[in-house]
Amino acid sequence: ATPAALMVGVGRGAQAGILIRGGEILEKAERLTTVVFDKTGTLTRGEPALTDLKPCGHCDHDEALRLAASLEAGSEHPLAEAILRGARERGIAPCAVKGFEAVPGHGVRGQVDGRKVLFGNRRLMEGAGVDVATVGPDMERFQADGKTAMLLACDGELAAVIAVADTIKPEAREAVRSLRAEGVEVVMLTGDNARTAAAIGRALEIDRVIADVLPSDKARVIKELQQAGKVVAMVGDGVNDAPALATADIGIAIGSGSDVAKETGGIILVRSDVRDVVTGIRLSRATMRTIK
Ligand code: ADP
Ligand code: MG
Repeated sequence: ATPAALMVGVGRGAQAGILIRGGEILEKAERLTTVVFDKTGTLTRGEPALTDLKPCGHCDHDEALRLAASLEAGSEHPLAEAILRGARERGIAPCAVKGFEAVPGHGVRGQVDGRKVLFGNRRLMEGAGVDVATVGPDMERFQADGKTAMLLACDGELAAVIAVADTIKPEAREAVRSLRAEGVEVVMLTGDNARTAAAIGRALEIDRVIADVLPSDKARVIKELQQAGKVVAMVGDGVNDAPALATADIGIAIGSGSDVAKETGGIILVRSDVRDVVTGIRLSRATMRTIK
């Protein structure tokens, strides 16, 4: 491969807002078999909105929202933003929290008004010994609609189910379709639950959905794909997925993402448009053809 031709490829990418760190990335991109997308903030806007709140008897609607919002005031997760905005719109102000703790891939916990409050997924509740059997049907109904359902517990008792919905980026559909047309397998990787992920995966016609993955395990999933012989690109915004971006054969960071993503990415999509993943692959294939 001539370095000059690779440099031309890198230059063409830059003109299109696709920053490629070195010609060897182009060589790898040509051999790609699999593109793994992070869900939240990559295929979806990452700006979920509160849609449903169902109290389960131990406190009323507004009290449940106040407790959840109080905990989320200490979190930087996109889900926290949805809860805080939802509370604000209803005129509910969060109150002080003692002993706040964010548990990655699970949720948040702390003491509010002297009560032990937990807010997060089923895994968080089960770990704390909270009985979640009664809310199964409600959760499943929300999840089948592609919503993320979270649980609120107060002093060991389930208090509410709260659901939020994120919006699929309109350009994501086209990106997935074009990748499949290029013969590339498309995978979605998420810490969200399997039912929600499947609903979003179906809407996007994604080949394979890997859900319920803890932030610390995302890189391991990439490694397993590589061990199965795949050449893998991982596309993400860096919230939870920087190690996976670094592990992939090619890490593709979307421009609106975190600084750490941009440092880790072998390719940076300046326009934050996931369709540029396809443009980058086509560019690398065209570049390699001129070399051969
Ligand atoms: P993603 O892959 O979408 O970035 P995470 O790994 O950050 O997801 O979180 C996985 C799941 O853990 C979320 O879908 C949610 O149910 C729960 N969770 C994580 N952080 C929070 C939080 N701050 N508040 C409520 N639930 C949370
Ligand atoms: Mg994420």
